[in-house]
Amino acid sequence: MLPPPIRNPDVKYTQAFINNEYVNCVSGKTFPTINPTTKQKIADVQAGDKADVDIAVEAAKAAFKIGSEWRRMDASKRGVLLMKLADLIERDMSYIASLETTDNGKPYKNACGDVGFAIAIIRYYAGWADKISGKTIPINGDYFCYTRHEPVGICGQIVPWNYPFQLMFFKVAAALACGCVCVVKPAEQTPLTSLYAGSLIKEAGFPPGVVNIIPGDGPTAGVAITHHPDVNKVSFTGSTEVGQLIMQASGMSNLKRTSLELGGKSPNIVFGDVDLDAAVAWSHAAVMENMGQCCVAGTRTFVHESIYDEFVKKSASMASNRVVGDPFDETTQNGPQIDDVQFGKILDLIESGKKEGAKVECGGEKIGDKGYYIQPTVFSNVQDNMRIAKEEIFGPVQQILKFSDEDEVIERANNTHYGLGAAVFTNDINRALKFASSLQAGSVWVNCNLAVSAQGPFGGFKMSGMGRELGEYGLEEYLEVKNVVIKI
Ligand code: NAD
Repeated sequence: MLPPPIRNPDVKYTQAFINNEYVNCVSGKTFPTINPTTKQKIADVQAGDKADVDIAVEAAKAAFKIGSEWRRMDASKRGVLLMKLADLIERDMSYIASLETTDNGKPYKNACGDVGFAIAIIRYYAGWADKISGKTIPINGDYFCYTRHEPVGICGQIVPWNYPFQLMFFKVAAALACGCVCVVKPAEQTPLTSLYAGSLIKEAGFPPGVVNIIPGDGPTAGVAITHHPDVNKVSFTGSTEVGQLIMQASGMSNLKRTSLELGGKSPNIVFGDVDLDAAVAWSHAAVMENMGQCCVAGTRTFVHESIYDEFVKKSASMASNRVVGDPFDETTQNGPQIDDVQFGKILDLIESGKKEGAKVECGGEKIGDKGYYIQPTVFSNVQDNMRIAKEEIFGPVQQILKFSDEDEVIERANNTHYGLGAAVFTNDINRALKFASSLQAGSVWVNCNLAVSAQGPFGGFKMSGMGRELGEYGLEEYLEVKNVVIKI
């Protein structure tokens, strides 16, 4: 049972959060954050620039100094603080989810799901805080050799707009469990829930400077973080293009440790031996959830020729019945797209699909002018070389492609520079195992899709990124390994 939503929630915080206080940015600038459902301004938010990032990094440095409260804190206490933070987020779920729905446009029930997932991640990493340990290693001679897993230090964490609150905690929870300190930059489209999180971090009892949050745009605040010589690590989720810029910045500044979670064009492969209705429903959700604004969306639906026509018919019917509307309505499944830029990009790609000869089975148009709404769209007759089959659309647009045999579809599925997710639907266990090992993706799902958990690793092959978030693997991104050798 979801907590009741708050329509038009008060915006409590629009300033930067540094040293556990909300402060005006020294830049003196602000930017508007827009409600994508109405295209109306929600609030003006402080826009941090290089000087503001410098102040936040200084605060983080002081919090991370040897001998500071945070460095001296027992690891188990870090876990206790994380648990407390999770409880506070749970207490405020209705407010946070309502604010997310207002700022991002996602249906309120999905926003509650995102907040719930953030809570699960924080609790999971709270349990890890006092279980991070090194090894003793037998080496030749009279020596005692052991490893220490130490926090990497000051972490710049750059978050996108598609899952603003949840993705902030993919990064912050793991970093705090490891004893790191954070400078977070939310996306300019969706700063409000991240800024609110600052107040809960303070209330939970984290010392000043451990988490700092600087709203602002990518080319200003984002660039200042990625070029800062005292930032030890950058964790980024967003576009592949910006991921490449961040790698360059890391190389040109101080060789920051870098983890990147980037775009995708994930294949979703359906064989003829499955429960057709279930496969249609999973494949539909894989591309339509969050209005298609999901890095791991299974946008290339490859369907075996034996069930192709039936699959297309059922998918079109499901998409045309998808409820698009006010994200605060309980029945709404899709709200608006995030902003005018994404809206224009999606409509342009839909037009390209029409021109290149794909068949629109349903949708294909915008809805009204009030918000950034696009009809759930299904294309059939899609060929591998069409733009809609190659480019990340980040909208509610499903491409259905036909295949005839296993090796052919493996080759076509892997024929992309992305490698984030992949799914295969089959009841043949040998085939499932063959696909699990042959598909080039950081996550392979069999008979399901988008099953992301706090415990399992998440990340990409190829140009979908480097490093992993979540699970035990996610901790490695925030730790340095130190080898200590003592002469006995
Ligand atoms: P983006 O990559 O530009 O923005 C993501 C984050 O990076 C934001 O916080 C932004 O302020 C910041 N940023 C932008 N430029 C930066 C720079 N030079 N240095 C440091 N930080 C910078 O993404 P976008 O423009 O919002 O969306 C464009 C496309 O990116 C989408 O269409 C989609 O394909 C992809 N995208 C992917 C994800 C994902 O989860 N992998 C999320 C959002 C967008």
